[in-house]
Order: sequence, then structure tokens, then C-alpha cells
Amino acid sequence: MLPTPAIAALREQFPLITELMALQPLSWFNPRIAPAAEGLDDVGLTAHDVAQASARLARFAPYLAKAFPQTQASGGIIESPVVPLPAMQAALGMTIGQLWLKQDSHLPISGSIKARGGIYEVLKHAEMLALDAGLLKEGDDYSVLASDAVRAFFGQYAIAVGSTGNLGLSIGIMSARLGFRATVHMSADARQWKKDKLRAHGVTVVEYATDYSVAVEAGRKQAEGDPACHFVDDENSHDLFLGYAVAGQRLKQQFEAAGVAVDADHPLFVYLPCGVGGGPGGVAFGLKLAFGDCVHCVFVEPTHSPCMLLGVHTGLHEQISVQEIGIDNVTAADGLAVGRPSGFVGRAMQRLIDGYATVTDEELYRLLATLEQTQGLRLEPSAVAGFAGIPPVLAAPQYQANLPRATHLVWGTGGSMVPQEEMAAYVARGRALLAAGAA
Ligand SMILES: *Cc1c(COP(=O)(O)O)cnc(C)c1O
Repeated sequence: MLPTPAIAALREQFPLITELMALQPLSWFNPRIAPAAEGLDDVGLTAHDVAQASARLARFAPYLAKAFPQTQASGGIIESPVVPLPAMQAALGMTIGQLWLKQDSHLPISGSIKARGGIYEVLKHAEMLALDAGLLKEGDDYSVLASDAVRAFFGQYAIAVGSTGNLGLSIGIMSARLGFRATVHMSADARQWKKDKLRAHGVTVVEYATDYSVAVEAGRKQAEGDPACHFVDDENSHDLFLGYAVAGQRLKQQFEAAGVAVDADHPLFVYLPCGVGGGPGGVAFGLKLAFGDCVHCVFVEPTHSPCMLLGVHTGLHEQISVQEIGIDNVTAADGLAVGRPSGFVGRAMQRLIDGYATVTDEELYRLLATLEQTQGLRLEPSAVAGFAGIPPVLAAPQYQANLPRATHLVWGTGGSMVPQEEMAAYVARGRALLAAGAA
């Protein structure tokens, strides 16, 4: 925690900090939002970079279809459905616009949004090593990588990552399947079943009694001491970011196929749960490239972990953590328990994200149970955070003119791999809270 006078000075300069410290759900729309054509200049990456990432994933598709049979139906492309939520929309009392869900909860291989960035970064690293060693040539069918000889080759190399859980699952499962020695440094809040699953895949799991930032630092240190080890840097990685960004063009095609218009008269609002920022930041970058000023992105964070809101609002980015203003970073939302944001993402996206909202754990449980009751869809607590961004948008004066023709897309970021008993407990918790609220 910062010294009392330093906190007082920050609160004086940024009154919103007092509200954050009170842990009440709130929203903030960024007055510095810029047209996409200007804001995209801040990113330091381009549409060309995203197109290359997309092409790389296409090259790996034959390999993925072979190594992970659950991706065969999609030809080895890791993508999730986008579905309308009419019953949920009614339950939320949304009388205008159309509510949709992006089901990254059901992405193959690791069951969360991390199957985008995490798997992409591992594949890119593997491609580089295999090309250098002459195991792959341009134009090859990449399914040749699914051989014992290639696995033995990758076994000379290691991949390490620090994670609250879901990134570890993606990196660990993908790395181990290729043959890498994989180590996941896990923070105290990571669930036991994720550790068990990784160990079952042959991944080394190192557990820490502390939070995410410490686990990341430990992973970074391990990798520095080992030239054969690639460290996946969740706080700064451009590759992770580009892997997520590929979602933008893909969503555009899905909406076109579904007949959903996104244009100047039909704006698209996308609500993304935010932890360190790489996932939502990368997806939002891809969305801005695909839809320009017709898309408005809103990040949602737990009231106990509003790190990106704090960093962007103060302009201090990774120089400030929620703990420094006395917020504990304790939340039931796996993946969102991050106290210090990515400075790279905060700066890259600072003029492209329309707004930020916070949500309580109780509300996450209520939303999760409502989604289960109305649509029969089961998502983990963090994955429903996006729904909490909708009311502030519906109330914001700047959007009123086009709201009747708007599409609202909640990015559902995880849940399909949560064990059934654990999911049942989440739903029961949410139902109890809903019943208590109705009484
Ligand atoms: C990681 C994660 C997020 C947020 O992604 P960041 O890159 O940490 O911001 C959201 N939802 C789920 C389920 C996640 O695992």
C-alpha cells in the first residue's frame, strides 16, 4: 500500500479512486477515445501483423486437426460459435438492441479465450525452431510435426509461463502435445483441477502462495537462467496479443453469415472481461481493425481487481497496482484476479477502448445462474463479467441515438472445462443469491 499522503494526493487528482476504493460497481467512459484511424496508431502493430498471425494459424490447422481430434470438425481452426441470447436478454430487461454471446467458453483444447493467444504463441515458437532445424520447409503440410521424432526434437526446449490458471492450461497443453518441456508457475488462486489437469498432461506445475504478478516474475526468472527456455510473457507479449486479435476478422465473417449488420447505423458493443489485459486488448485490437468506428469495446473487471481501469484512468499503467490503493485483488473470477495491468496493452489501447466497468463477485454468480436458467449455457464466473458492462452503455448519453439498432456482444471467455461438481456449485451459489434478492 502507498503511504497515506500519496493515496490522498491521488484521490485529490482522480476522484474516481475514492469510488474504486469503496469497492462499489462503477463505470467510466474514457474522454480520450479517438477515431479508430487515429487510435490504431498507438498500438505499434498493424493489420498486416494480424493477417500474418491468421495465416500462421491456417498453416498449423492440419497439425492441430491431427493432434487434437476435437478440432477436426473445424479443419483444425480453433474458433467458437456466436449465438443470440433472446431469453437472457428478456431476463435482463433489455428492451432495445440484440444481445449475443461469443462462446470462447467452448473453444477447443483449453476451453477459454486463452486458446487464442496462448496456443498461437506456442505454435509460432515451434514453427521458428522447426524451420531453423530444417524439420519444416515453407509449403509443407504441418501435420508432419505430429511425429515422435519431432516431439523428441522439441523436448530439447522448454516453455514457461506464469498464470492464474487458464493461460497455464493453454500453454501447458499445447506445449506438452508438441513435445516441449512445459512449466506453469501458478498463483495461489489457481484451482486444484487446473493443476491436476496440467500434471496429467505431463506439465510441471510450480505453486506459489502469492498472487499472479509474483508467479509471473518467478517464471521470468526461471526462463532467464535457461537459454533453451521460452517464457510466455502475459504482461508484454505481442504474439499473445496478435493471437487474440485474429478473432476480429473471424467475428466479422460470422456476423455476415448470420445476417447481423454492423455499420454506422447499427453499432456493435462488445463487452470483454479484463485481467492483465492481453486477451481483451488483443481481441479489441482485432475488432477495431475489422469494424473501425462501428464497434465500441467495454472492459469489465471485478470490483476487487480493477487494475486496467486504474492504470488507464491515472495514466500510470503498470506503475500502479490495486493493492497500492488498498484493494485486495481477491475475487472468485479466475483469470481476472490481476492487481497490476499490462502497460503494453494499457498504452496500446488507451484511445480505442470506450469504457470500463466493475462488477461484484455476487453479481457474477447471479449472471452465471441467470444465463444457465434462461439459455442452458454454463460459463465460469469471470466469463460472464461482460454482462455487467451493458447497463452503463444503455444509460450513456453518447450512444442513445443508435441504441435501438445496436448489437450487444458479450465475450464469454471460459467455462466448458470446469468440472461438473464445481460448475454446479457456481450455479447453486448464483441461484441462492437470486432467490435472496427476490425475497
Ligand atoms: C484470462 C482470462 C480473461 C482475461 O484475459 P487477460 O488477458 O488476463 O486480460 C478473461 N476471462 C477468462 C475466463 C480468462 O481466463
